[in-house]
Amino acid sequence: MKFRLIILKNLYIKCLINGKVMKFFIGNWKMFGIPSSIKIIERINNFVQKDKKNSKKYKVIISPPHTLLESFSKNFRNKKISICAQNCFHKDNFGAHTGSVSPFMISRLGTKYIIIGHSENRSAGENDKIIEEKVFSALKNKLNIIFCIGENKTEKKRKRTLNVLHNQIKKVLKKNYDFKKILIAYEPIWSIGSGKLPSDKELSKIIFSIKKFLKINFNKRHNFKVLYGGSVDSKSVQLFKQIKELDGFLIGGASKSSKKFIDIIKNFYK
Ligand code: PEP
Repeated sequence: MKFRLIILKNLYIKCLINGKVMKFFIGNWKMFGIPSSIKIIERINNFVQKDKKNSKKYKVIISPPHTLLESFSKNFRNKKISICAQNCFHKDNFGAHTGSVSPFMISRLGTKYIIIGHSENRSAGENDKIIEEKVFSALKNKLNIIFCIGENKTEKKRKRTLNVLHNQIKKVLKKNYDFKKILIAYEPIWSIGSGKLPSDKELSKIIFSIKKFLKINFNKRHNFKVLYGGSVDSKSVQLFKQIKELDGFLIGGASKSSKKFIDIIKNFYK
């Protein structure tokens, strides 16, 4: 009986990790953080360690700025939390690109994840071609990617959302990529930092459509992971917890406070 229970438990954990139940809570600090800000991640890590009831059901990833990547990646190497870069230059290795940091350099810091295609970088001039190169170079350097897509307010008004999202995906991903290393983050631009949210029905439809598009065009067998980002806090997360297609959240503003971030996880599992 005991042996059976152990097998079942192992199967359950395998299932969580292989993509059925595991949710992601990813914090994007943007231009925030100094060395002492490590306290914020330590508090979140302590919470995850103590959260025996649920901690196997989710993974926490935090993205500090480049300046903190090396020390934070070292500090959290064997901990529950993983550290993520917020962006990279599109050319690999080293080169004459003042102020830039390549995926090769990031991967050598022990950092395992990277956000690519965030709308704030797209609006600063990053186009699909550059994003395509970034994703290619990041994968070459064995980084796991959080690939951001999202429509703006006008595109939403004109009912172009699905077209925009499908195009952003088509222009960047390739059929031969290892999709276990890619998480898609759907981040409607009109929602980021605005307090405005899609309805649960609307979001559920969009996530479903993204997954269907990925399966049809890239890999029928892969269980793609799609997250939501845009004004997620401890209150709004409750609206979305019934959406079973949703694999987690990319959290901006609320990730800079350990309390706010922990409350999001607590309320999700309440
Ligand atoms: C983001 O910038 O990725 C984001 C989701 O921000 P916020 O949570 O503040 O809307």
